[in-house]
Amino acid sequence: RRTADNGGIERAREVLADVFGYRDFRSHQADIIATVIAGDDALALMPTGGGKSLCYQIPSLVRPGLGVVVSPLIALMQDQVEALTQAGVKAAFLNSTLDYREMVALEARIGQGDLDILYVSPERLLQDRTLALLARIDLALFAIDEAHCVSQWGHDFRPEYRQLKVLAERFPSVPRIALTATADERTREEIVAELRLGEARRFIASFDRPNIRYTISDAGSMGARERLWRFIETEHAEDAGIVYCLSRKSVEETAAWLSDKGRTALAYHAGLETRVRSKVLDRFRQESGVIVVATIAFGMGIDKPDVRFVAHLNLPKSIEAYYQETGRAGRDGLAANAWLAYGLQDLIQLRQWIAQSEGSEAYKQVQRQKLAALIGLCELPSCRRQSLLAYFGERRAEPCGNCDNCLNPPQTTDGTVLAQKALSAVYRTGQRFGATYLIDVLLGRANERVARSGHDKLPVFGIGKDTDEATWKGVFRQLTAAGQLTGDDDGYGMLLLTDAARPILRGEEKFLVRIAPKETKTKAKRASK
Ligand code: ADP
Ligand code: ZN
Repeated sequence: RRTADNGGIERAREVLADVFGYRDFRSHQADIIATVIAGDDALALMPTGGGKSLCYQIPSLVRPGLGVVVSPLIALMQDQVEALTQAGVKAAFLNSTLDYREMVALEARIGQGDLDILYVSPERLLQDRTLALLARIDLALFAIDEAHCVSQWGHDFRPEYRQLKVLAERFPSVPRIALTATADERTREEIVAELRLGEARRFIASFDRPNIRYTISDAGSMGARERLWRFIETEHAEDAGIVYCLSRKSVEETAAWLSDKGRTALAYHAGLETRVRSKVLDRFRQESGVIVVATIAFGMGIDKPDVRFVAHLNLPKSIEAYYQETGRAGRDGLAANAWLAYGLQDLIQLRQWIAQSEGSEAYKQVQRQKLAALIGLCELPSCRRQSLLAYFGERRAEPCGNCDNCLNPPQTTDGTVLAQKALSAVYRTGQRFGATYLIDVLLGRANERVARSGHDKLPVFGIGKDTDEATWKGVFRQLTAAGQLTGDDDGYGMLLLTDAARPILRGEEKFLVRIAPKETKTKAKRASK
């Protein structure tokens, strides 16, 4: 491997100032950049807005040769190339939007070495024609952006990403850097394995967004929309924000409803013409106090720093999605709100979507687990931030003081004994079963499966008889949300103990169970007629 001289990081600082106009590197940027400049592989986990782009842009400029950036998002590629070109960097993108003539011209430029940074879609990169072209020229690095797309467990699986392992085989001397904003432990391991990054140095920035206040509530009898209005009226009377809805129809209705209340509220979804959508984007950026009501199609690549709130009128699909979407609030570091209200109907809807989706059974199982983890977070009686960060593999010792549960602790009951029973059932049955089975064991149901495994002979068999099934479900969800239990890697729905389970089993730590408010249940029945 080509190693840069010690001046590498000095050069990087000059480029930071001269090309990008910034004085200092942020948290891990300098180390990541130094690693790649030195010719080593890197895995960078940084939250959205953390400054991942510079981690490959600067080494591309400092190292000799072309920096190749794999990105799954065409719109993002175009934005980045535009910004780089304005900064005087020779950048271009290669994807399906180019016509044949443009492509040939670009290839000629690449062949002549007249380019610093090339953004390319994975499909295009993997074509023989492209790989052969790259084999003929000097390469500074490969950057694999949105690396979680390689993971089936990740929320954005792209099969082409799995083939990127050929880069390690065909270009062994070119350093590779994989970047992502969403990677829990298992996604991280999948990235490393699938992309052959076993030797890569890992950089993990904190995912904490301390200025974002998390609030999650049941839509309850008031309904999510009415609750939303109360929230906006009292806390964000003049602020810009984003409201996420599940369907286009509810986007349209909610935008109209907020407009009636006197706010500038614009609908945004994939069904609108491109022209209309870019108009919405422009107004959101330029005018103050605009609320965009959107499906999740809105957000990728949005870089408006002063979004003061992100509200969800429905459950997002997963904790990753929730984190990603709420992460668009408060990028300027000032106080911002992440607000979510959900109803039982959302749950039913999301479960139906999973059941009816095209994916394999294993895929569906993963989606179900993710949804369960999200519900766990919603039902959690303790600090939301601790649980959110635990999901991303980050331990935080103290409650945050800046989430709804920290500020207004919900009604809870000491569930330590329940938790111990549940965790023991997981342990005694060999960490090979899902919640449904474990609940059968706890309730002492000697059905065929239980009997076949001989689990009706275990000391835990029937120890949970005095508690109802719904409570047990809640206990398992909450233990999963709090990180004492985790799903298995293969998506079979098995629950496994984590290190965090030990203090509870030993009685060194208490476990609080949230008492669900009664009101929601009656309302949900009426709503789902
Ligand atoms: P990510 O890709 O991690 O979401 P970006 O690379 O888009 O984040 O960076 C987010 C914002 O932070 C951009 O506006 C970028 O210009 C800015 N930024 C990145 N690094 C620095 C830095 N060292 N100093 C100041 N601003 C930075
Ligand atoms: Zn908290």
